[in-house]
Formats: sequence, C-alpha cells, structure tokens
Amino acid sequence: MEQMLPVPSPVSSYWLSQPHKFSNLRSTTELPTQCEVAIIGSGMAGITTAYHLFNQKQPPSSVVIIEARELCSGATARNGGHSKIKLSTLASQVSNLGQSGVDELQKFVQGVIASLKQVAEDEELDCELEIRRSFDVQLDGEDAASLKDIFQASRKAGHTWTKDVGFALPRFLEQVTSIKGAKAAESVPCCSLWPYKFVAQLLERLVARYPGQLNVQTTTPVTAVSVLADGTNAITTSRGVLKAKKLVFATNAYTAGLLPQFKDVIVPVRGMASHIVPKVPVHPHLSHTYNITFSSGQAADYLNPRPDGSIVVGGGGSMFKSDRPSWFNNFDDSTRFSSEVETYWDNYMQRVFLGWENSEAEAEKVWTGIMGSTPDGWPHIGRVPGRESQWVLAGFNGGGMSFIPTGAKAVAKMVAEDSDLVDVKDEFGIPDIFATSTERLRKAFTETR
Ligand SMILES: Cc1cc2nc3c(=O)[nH]c(=O)nc-3n(C[C@H](O)[C@H](O)[C@H](O)COP(=O)(O)OP(=O)(O)OC[C@H]3O[C@@H](n4cnc5c(N)ncnc54)[C@H](O)[C@@H]3O)c2cc1C
Repeated sequence: MEQMLPVPSPVSSYWLSQPHKFSNLRSTTELPTQCEVAIIGSGMAGITTAYHLFNQKQPPSSVVIIEARELCSGATARNGGHSKIKLSTLASQVSNLGQSGVDELQKFVQGVIASLKQVAEDEELDCELEIRRSFDVQLDGEDAASLKDIFQASRKAGHTWTKDVGFALPRFLEQVTSIKGAKAAESVPCCSLWPYKFVAQLLERLVARYPGQLNVQTTTPVTAVSVLADGTNAITTSRGVLKAKKLVFATNAYTAGLLPQFKDVIVPVRGMASHIVPKVPVHPHLSHTYNITFSSGQAADYLNPRPDGSIVVGGGGSMFKSDRPSWFNNFDDSTRFSSEVETYWDNYMQRVFLGWENSEAEAEKVWTGIMGSTPDGWPHIGRVPGRESQWVLAGFNGGGMSFIPTGAKAVAKMVAEDSDLVDVKDEFGIPDIFATSTERLRKAFTETR
C-alpha cells in the first residue's frame, strides 16, 4: 500500500503566490547526522514549536526542521486564514464538555488570537494580521433558533463563553452582514492573517538569530522513524538518516504515514478554497470574516476579506461531499476538484453578498488543501503514547489557526523539560480533550471500524 507522504507538486494557492526566499531552504548541503531536537513539518505547528523551543530557559543546542516539500506548503498555506471559534461549535459542546469545559475552550482560543498578535508584533511580521470580528451567519431559521436557545440559557447562567458574542439585530440582518437571506448572525472575536507569511517570516527571524543552532532541510521527505536501543530517534529520509534525542511530529494530516497508531485517528481530508477578486471595486470594505451556513447540517463556508478588497473563500462541500473518495482519506493536493465542482465559485460573491452584484468578481485562483480530521474533532497534543522521546501536535481539523500557537508553546515546554501534557496544561490552559493518549487512540480506532 502507498505510504501516506505529502505528494510532490501540490497545486499553488493565493497564499503561496508570493513565495518566501527560504521556500527551498537547506541550511547545509548535507542533512545533519545528529541533533538534540528534530521537528518534522514546517507549517504553523512546526515553526511555532521551534520558535517557542528557542524561547525556553534552556533552549536546545541544535534543532533540525525537516520538510517533505517546500517550506510551509501544507494546510497552513491553503486555508481560510482566520483564527476564531464559531458560536455553533461552542454551543454544540455544552452537552459534551459542560459549561465550564466550553468556557475553557473559548478562553483557549482567545489566548491563541492574543498569541498570534503578540508574536507578529514582537517579531515585526508583515503578514496582514488584523484583529477583527467574525460573523457566524445562518440562512436556516431553525438552526438559528436552536443556537440562540442554547446561547440564552448559558448567558443567563453567567457563563463566560457567552460574554464576547454579539447578536446582530434581526431587523437589520442583511444590512449589517451584507448576506442575502441571513436569518441570524452572531459576531465573535477573530484574527485575520496571511498564515504563510506569518510562518515563513518567523522562520526567517529564527534563522538569523540562531545560525549555529537551527538547521532547516526542505524537500526532504521523512519515510520512517524508529527508536534505537538508547532511546535516540532514527529519522530516515530521502537524503540519509538523522539521529535526534527528541522528536516532534508537526505533520498534521500525514501523521499516520509515520506513526501507524494514528491510522483512522488522524485522517487526511481534502478541502477546497478560492481567491475571488472584484473587477469593479466594492465599497464599503468588508471588515469582518465570515462563516456562513446555508442549510441545516451543511458545513459552513468561510470567508476572509483581504485588505486589498479581494476575498479568500473556502468550503463548497455541498458540491463534493457525496463523492466520498474525492475528499475522505484523500491526501492529494496536487490536483483540484472537477471543473463541475469548481462552478461553485462562479458569481459566488454576486450571489451571496449585497452590494457585489455589479462587481464582476471572479475566482482568480482555486486550490485544494489537506486537513487532519479526527473522529472526536479535537487535536492530539502531548507525548506520543508509549514513546518517551517523541511529542506530537496534529489533527487540527478545520481549525489549526485557532489551536496551534498555544499548543506549540506547550509542546516546546514539554520537549525542553522532558514532560507530559498533564505537567504543563494548566499553565497554557490546554483543554483535556486535546491530550493524546492510548485510550483516545484506541477509542478513535474502534469507533471508525
Ligand atoms: C482548505 C482549508 C481551509 C482551512 N481553513 C482554516 C481556517 O480558516 N482557520 C483555521 O484555523 N484553520 C483552517 N484550516 C486548517 C489549518 O490550515 C490547519 O489546521 C493548520 O494549517 C495545520 O497546521 P500544521 O502545521 O499542523 O499542518 P501543515 O500546515 O499541513 O504542515 C504539516 C507539514 O508537515 C509536512 N510533512 C508531513 N509529513 C511529512 C514527512 N513524512 N516528511 C516531511 N515532512 C512532512 C507537510 O509537508 C507539511 O508542510 C484549513 C485547512 C484547509 C486545508
């Protein structure tokens, strides 16, 4: 059976349209033979973990980042580019996590937004980061009503997750959101950014700051990992073997390609997004990001207006969800969905938004990207079960920008202190549901059988 590795020649995306000078970086011609910490993966998870590792009281003497393709060419360079948690996600978790669990989750995402802002400002990253509000918009009246019921009961009970949510006035919904036929809209905190630029420039800062300690090797697929008798990790790549005392898997959708115990636990799932550009400028500028649910039970589309007036729009699941092999357990981002599926983007903004009817807006780029989906919907963070010298942060579903930055801080501390998630979770406010464990692996595996 074909090994699950990132496929060569992925399609390009809007976010990749301005490649960083380090996109093919190999710090040394040869792959180093040993290091203290190796990180596999150069997306948001890999690079922010490296950043926080170097910020530890006792940073590692040597870090090697290994990337199968070009720098940050996975999901981080193919997503919607906003960090938020939808009100419907929070409300749906009340019965599962309890009110205090939902409070914790909302607080965690709020902290992630703050962390993205702080790193971008501290490191002077030119990544179009803006603190904004995001509208969750429902076009189905019943969906909207049941969401409001849960919200109101929780608000009256004083739960903190309800505090920074604003419901748009029903009589002005279309006016306020610009969405035709909106039945309800709630605004939540959010951060919009160019994730690829955030990651690539952060790496650039690290390379300049730690020339002797950081080694980056792009276009170097890792094909196997084993643990030697002395506990060292032997990382086999297309260009030789690297031995690392400690190893971080920042491999998201592809984790099971190297850690078979994650098969059916983190499943690759293919998504679609586009960049839509108006030919006739539209005023006023859309200042929110959006998640729009058109009908009950359907996954939301996500929209992220860019400062230049164009817009990144992703989703369109209604066009391909019935063709399961085209997206589920599919890690091929070297091809796009069929042209029939892509008709979804034709006149999208004209159809959906008031004020865009005469914009002549067109999708100038359409791409695919691979998410790491987990059966319970939460990422896996912590020491790899049964492996003393390995840690993982992966399985971020459709929300890595909202979970990774703080998850990476926690992983960096665990690696530096040789500890487990339980030792650091309170410091970073990591919800227990994110902890990877043998039990969780077994449960996910059994449930998908
Ligand atoms: C279409 C789409 C829309 C999305 N929209 C949003 C959104 O709006 N907001 C949000 O929060 N999240 C969104 N997401 C999810 C988000 O993009 C991901 O959760 C996040 O980028 C994961 O980051 P990562 O670093 O873990 O993974 P990635 O960015 O995928 O990085 C993993 C890296 O590991 C490398 N790798 C894997 N295996 C190997 C190997 N064997 N050897 C060497 N290298 C390897 C890969 O090449 C890749 O570069 C979206 C995702 C997609 C695909």
